[in-house]
Amino acid sequence: MPMSEAFHRRLSEVLEKTVEHFGTPFHIYDEIGIIETCETLKKAFAGREGFKEFFAVKALPNPDIMKIMKDQGFGFDCSSAPELLLSESINSRGEELMFTSNNTSVKDFEAAADSGAILNLDDISLIPKVMAMPELICFRYNPGPRRKGNKIIGNPIESKYGVSHDQIVDAYRLVINRGAKRFGMHTMLASNELNHEYMVETTSMLLSMVELVAEELDITFEFINIGGGVGIPYRPDQIPLNIEAMGKECIDLLDSFEEKKGWAPLLFMESGRYMTGPHGALITKVINHKNIYRKYVGVDASMSSLMRPGMYEAYHHIHIHGKENAKSYETVDVVGSLCENIDKFAVQRSLPLTTEGDILVIHDTGAHGHAMGFNYNANLRPKELLLRADGRVELIRREETPEDYFATLRFEKDILH
Ligand SMILES: *Cc1c(COP(=O)(O)O)cnc(C)c1O
Repeated sequence: MPMSEAFHRRLSEVLEKTVEHFGTPFHIYDEIGIIETCETLKKAFAGREGFKEFFAVKALPNPDIMKIMKDQGFGFDCSSAPELLLSESINSRGEELMFTSNNTSVKDFEAAADSGAILNLDDISLIPKVMAMPELICFRYNPGPRRKGNKIIGNPIESKYGVSHDQIVDAYRLVINRGAKRFGMHTMLASNELNHEYMVETTSMLLSMVELVAEELDITFEFINIGGGVGIPYRPDQIPLNIEAMGKECIDLLDSFEEKKGWAPLLFMESGRYMTGPHGALITKVINHKNIYRKYVGVDASMSSLMRPGMYEAYHHIHIHGKENAKSYETVDVVGSLCENIDKFAVQRSLPLTTEGDILVIHDTGAHGHAMGFNYNANLRPKELLLRADGRVELIRREETPEDYFATLRFEKDILH
């Protein structure tokens, strides 16, 4: 199922007054749901001491959400200097942070060094570019033909990320020569993967790689990081990933590794979507109906609020507030106002008959939703709200204004003659 019944109920209770007070469109996030998912994850991996989630900031880069994660003991996975600053703004720093960049710039390296984040290097060629080699260093591993990618992220051979199999031992050898003393290994091969076995295979793959490098170079590893990519069911007929089974099977692998070797790395992951995806919704009002070759329901949000349907043809479930038990349905496209025909939240979807002013609830926008929004056509990004555990609804990011849009057009004259 998309949105949980509990979130649906909590949201329905406050939706009308929230719409009246804040106006549409907005994303709203469910604090209780996020906390429950954090706890479910920790419970699934409780069998190994030191398990740690580094929330992938890019999924929902809002400090109020990140504070919830921090209170759960989570760190943050950052891929850019501003994401590091965002994490530091809520007092996460040092080894609470992973810096997983690719095609890394000198500026990025400097920002990473300033924050003290665990440096996760994407390539062997980047080693000489690290000014002061930190004691703790990690590489992102790309298995190439040794692994089939999942459907969404594609084949590892075609992926720009990570150190190749043939270069991985040399990569660690080179950082050892430069003074590194503590080691981790990372990979990220899946996106929105619903089969837990795939994630277990990734754990197994990293453990064999760690074993290989450890033997070759006579070192041990502090951690493996299996990346993000744990999926959520966007469609009503999809079955959720079995996180309990994933936890158990990963822990079994680590336990056997420890039995065999006398040591074992800690298990880290950096999920984004799984943590917050189902706990957010985009709320938008019906403003127009159009009946030409197809029927269109026009809403007051556009792709600037949610790119996934236009970009990936991704499915987001939609319900009409108060019409959950409607009898009459029609097939429509739900559209925004951009001059771009992919600006649709749903294509040929069967929805209850709507009237102007109806409130649409677009599910599962808690990850890669607001964050992916853009300003094409001068469409401005909407506000973000947080439905607190005690029922209060809090503004956690205001909407963009034309002032924001014009901000980059105010600058000192600068002409090169
Ligand atoms: C995007 C990304 C994640 C998070 O992915 P989800 O699919 O949201 O879990 C984690 N790690 C890295 C390196 C990423 O690029």
